[in-house]
Amino acid sequence: MNNIISNVGWFGFFAAFAYFIYYDNFAGKTSVDYNMNFRYLCAAAAALVLAGYVLKFLGNTFKVGKGRCKVCGKKIGKTETYCFDHLTQVVTQGQEKSRGIAKQK
Ligand SMILES: [Zn+2]
Repeated sequence: MNNIISNVGWFGFFAAFAYFIYYDNFAGKTSVDYNMNFRYLCAAAAALVLAGYVLKFLGNTFKVGKGRCKVCGKKIGKTETYCFDHLTQVVTQGQEKSRGIAKQK
């Protein structure tokens, strides 16, 4: 999601430059203040890119506490919930549970 915001921002930069180049061809023939609009477009794009990066940074900061096993608190990968030992334990327990349910039926 945060990457999408940054990508829209980068796309905004390209759009702003395309807009500038397009209107530059009509320089002196148009009353459109494309120089000013170009600056606004760039500022808006920059704000989007920055917002995307800030959100990404905040997301990474908040995920730091998650890099630990839920059971023993051992350091693990940021996307993991359990260490290897407890992951196998949880999976085995889950399998036993589903077996128990199957037996009850
Ligand atoms: Zn563990």
